[in-house]
Amino acid sequence: MAKHNAPVKKNETISLRFEDLTHEGSGVGKVNGYPLFVPNALPEEEGEVKVVKANKNFGFGKLLHLTKESPERVEPVCHDHCNGCGLQHMSYQLQLEMKQNQVQNAMKKVAHLEHVPVHPIIGMDDPLHYRNKVQIPVGEKNGELITGFYQKRSHRIIENTETCSTHNEVINEVVKAVRSIANRLGISAYNEEKHSGVLRHIMVRTGEETKDIMVVLVTRTNELPHKDELVEELTKQFPHVKSVVHNINDKRTNVIMGKKTKVIWGDEYIYDKIGDITFAISAKSFYQVNPPQTKTLYDKALEYAAIDSGDIVIDAYCGIGTISLFLAQKAKKVYGVEIVPEAISDAKMNAKKNGITNAEFYVGEAEKIMPWWKAQGLNPDVIVVDPPRKGCDEELLKAMIAMQPKRIVYVSCNPSTLARDLRILEDGGFATQEVQPVDMFPNTPHIENVCWLERKL
Ligand code: SAH
Repeated sequence: MAKHNAPVKKNETISLRFEDLTHEGSGVGKVNGYPLFVPNALPEEEGEVKVVKANKNFGFGKLLHLTKESPERVEPVCHDHCNGCGLQHMSYQLQLEMKQNQVQNAMKKVAHLEHVPVHPIIGMDDPLHYRNKVQIPVGEKNGELITGFYQKRSHRIIENTETCSTHNEVINEVVKAVRSIANRLGISAYNEEKHSGVLRHIMVRTGEETKDIMVVLVTRTNELPHKDELVEELTKQFPHVKSVVHNINDKRTNVIMGKKTKVIWGDEYIYDKIGDITFAISAKSFYQVNPPQTKTLYDKALEYAAIDSGDIVIDAYCGIGTISLFLAQKAKKVYGVEIVPEAISDAKMNAKKNGITNAEFYVGEAEKIMPWWKAQGLNPDVIVVDPPRKGCDEELLKAMIAMQPKRIVYVSCNPSTLARDLRILEDGGFATQEVQPVDMFPNTPHIENVCWLERKL
C-alpha cells in the first residue's frame, strides 16, 4: 500500500486560508501544498475546518466557522441542502467568474488551445426562478404525502421544497396543488425500500410564451387511483394545464420515467415558442430548461453556423428539432438525429406545424447514424452537435472528421468533454475559432458553451 503522507489527520481541526474553487464550487485551501476541499468556503476567506477525510494527495473538510469573510459571500436565497443550487452562497458575479475560469482552464489544459478566445460568459439579469421543468420525488411522512428534492448524497426527501428559487413560481404552485389533491384522494407514495405504494414522481413543465402546463404523474402501478378526480380538481385550479400524462415505472431504479406513457387528459404535448417557431414538446422529450438563455444560446449557435442558402446541414443530438428548424430557415436541407423516438416524432410535427419542408429527422444513436450517412455519400457543409454531458462518441467524431464539413458548431453542457472533443477535432483538421459560455444554470455549477470551428484547409 502507498505510504499515507497527508499532513492532516481525519477529525483534526485546523485553520485554513482558501485560495481557489473546485468545479463544484467548494473552497480549496492548502496545508504545505496539500489541498483540502471544503464546501461553502470562498477564495480569500479564512476559517476553522474539521478534516473529514484525508486521502494521500488531497482531503475534504467541513467548515466550522469563518474568521475572515469574502466580500463575494451572499446570504443564500434557500437554505435547503438539496443537490441543486450549490453556488447560492456566492455573488452572481463570482459564480460567473468561476465558470469563466473553468472554461478557460479546460481550453488550456485539456484542449491545449490557450490562444482561442473565450468570450465573457453571458449571465442573466435575474438569475432566479428560471427553470421551466421540475421532476420531484414523492414520499410519505406521518401518513401524509410530501414532495421535495433529495438531500445531498441521499434519498431522504427534504420536505415540501416548493419555495425553490430556481423553478418558476407556477411550477412550485402546481407541485403543491398535486400533492394536496393526491393527499385528499388518499393516493399513496412510492416506498423505495419496499418497492410498494403508488406515486413516485411529479414532473411539471411549462411553456414560457404560451403559459401551457404539462403534468406527468409517475407511478409504480399500472393504475393511477382517482385519476379523474385528480384531473378535474387540477385543471379547475390551473386553467393553463393543457396535458396530464400518466407514466408507469415499475422498476427498482433511479431513472425517473418508465417506458409506458398514457395521456389521461388533454394533449400529448404542450407548446412553446422561441423566436418565430412554435414547438410541441411531449413528456419524454428534452427541452432546454432556461427560456431566456435558450434564445441567447441558439442565436449564438446560428450566428456561428453562418448558414448559406445552398448549405446541407446536420444537427446531431437534435431533440425536438429546436436548433434544426432555425437552421432549416436558412439552409437548403437539414438532417436531424436523436435517440429518443418521442422527440423525433415531436421534431417531425414541429417541422410540419411551422411549414418547414427541408428538414428530415431520424431516430437513432448519432454515433451510428453519422457513419451510415457518410457511407451513403452525405457530405454536409455544416455540422451542429449538442451532446449530453459525456460529450461526443468517438465514432461520431471520426464520422464528422471524415465528412469534412466547412464548419462545426459544438453546443456543450460540459467544458471537460467539450475540451477533450475539441482536441480530437483539431487533430482531425479543424481549427477552433471562438468559445462563448452562456450561463444556462445560475446558482448551480453547470456550464454551457457554444463553440465555433472551421475546417483548416
Ligand atoms: N439540441 C437539442 C437537444 C440537446 S440535449 C436542444 O437544444 O433542445 C441532447 C439530446 O441528445 C437529448 O435530446 C438526448 O435525448 C439526445 N441523445 C443522447 N444520447 C444520444 C445519442 N447517442 N445519439 C443521439 N441522440 C442522443
